Amino acid sequence: MRVVRWLVGFVVAVVVLLGVAVYLLGLYPLRELHPSPMQARGVLAITGANVYVSPDAPVMARATVVVRDGKIAAVGEGVEVPAGAEVIACDGCVVTAGFWNAHVHFTEAKWIGAEWKPKGVLEAQVEDMLTSRGFTTVVDTGSNLRDTVPLRRRIEHGEILGPKIYTAGGALYPPKGIPYYLRGSLPGWMLRLMAQPATPAAAVKDVDRNIADGADILKLFTGSYVERGTVLPMPVEIATAAVEAARAHGQIAFAHESDLAGVKVAMASGVSVLAHAVDTTEGVDDAVLRDIIARKMAMVPTLKMFRTTVTTKASYLDPIYAQVRRFHELGGDLIFGTDVGYMTDYDTADEFQALAKSGLNGRDMLRMLTVTPATRFGVSAEKGTLEVGKDGDLVVMNGDPMTDVGAFARPKMTVRGGRVIWRR
Ligand SMILES: [Zn+2]
Repeated sequence: MRVVRWLVGFVVAVVVLLGVAVYLLGLYPLRELHPSPMQARGVLAITGANVYVSPDAPVMARATVVVRDGKIAAVGEGVEVPAGAEVIACDGCVVTAGFWNAHVHFTEAKWIGAEWKPKGVLEAQVEDMLTSRGFTTVVDTGSNLRDTVPLRRRIEHGEILGPKIYTAGGALYPPKGIPYYLRGSLPGWMLRLMAQPATPAAAVKDVDRNIADGADILKLFTGSYVERGTVLPMPVEIATAAVEAARAHGQIAFAHESDLAGVKVAMASGVSVLAHAVDTTEGVDDAVLRDIIARKMAMVPTLKMFRTTVTTKASYLDPIYAQVRRFHELGGDLIFGTDVGYMTDYDTADEFQALAKSGLNGRDMLRMLTVTPATRFGVSAEKGTLEVGKDGDLVVMNGDPMTDVGAFARPKMTVRGGRVIWRR
């Protein structure tokens, strides 16, 4: 009798403990999915700055930027500094709108348990990867929402200084289509959790679950490198069902396309953004690029990632640079993104150098960093330029990126919503 009672007590204790664990690790992190953005109170004034209000405006010399309660209140020469403002004397520095990085991941082991990590640890990680590079808005194209949602919440609560985060949550892969480079690096249980819908209905379910858990965009592997040099395309009816499910919630889709077949699935299914340049370039000619542009799809080149994680061989890289150059010449929308998180070298200098190799100048790059992504995400009324009334998101640089694009990679201060979120 006593043994039975003891056994029952033991089982109850185990069940309760398991329940608590599931709650703390699985459900508790997924609260407050879309917190309202952090916005500073008070007045910030940057004086003596050379200001690029937008990629197309002439430079405004020795100007003052005033941010009041998180919004741009005035920009110009001879603008008066309001009494009580926090003044940053800039002395010839250059100011632009805050940068976007539209391809990042919060998937390194250091983001696991973001709900519980000490503030200082998490903030140092965010600083290293993002805010010290000038990013005020980032698009996470694949991560565990149980880490990304708490990170986003702690940022918007003002506890951790960081960028605005859009996230895709878990990506969708073709059936039996996990990329070889993930198969090698992730534990088996994690691989089994990754969505590989076998039918359109299953794809819709996966998209809806992601959205219910806090995702803002959809990420599809329309072409997945199942082995080095072998791309498995996603069945087009599965991709189409996923994109339509996202669109029903007002969300856009990003695709990792890899080769021509992956591009065709992305085009046919209604994807909005190619998350990389096409790196298996066979068959990707002018006609294909024109088709991508005609469908109003944008491209995030991620050039440094190819060089850093695949190979430095010119026979591989040169056709990719040529493709980005041609896409740009034909009028395609390019968006800045580096795939940091997957790529563990966070320095952005090489990406700007590679974009210069593809024929882009400083204004083209500023457009990729600001106006184009803001427009694509439907927030051009709030972000992308330094016009009065928009969010006080800005980057302060020492050099002029219009004469040396390397200056983009060396910010000295990052301001988001009127709050200094990083300074050198
Ligand atoms: Zn990526």
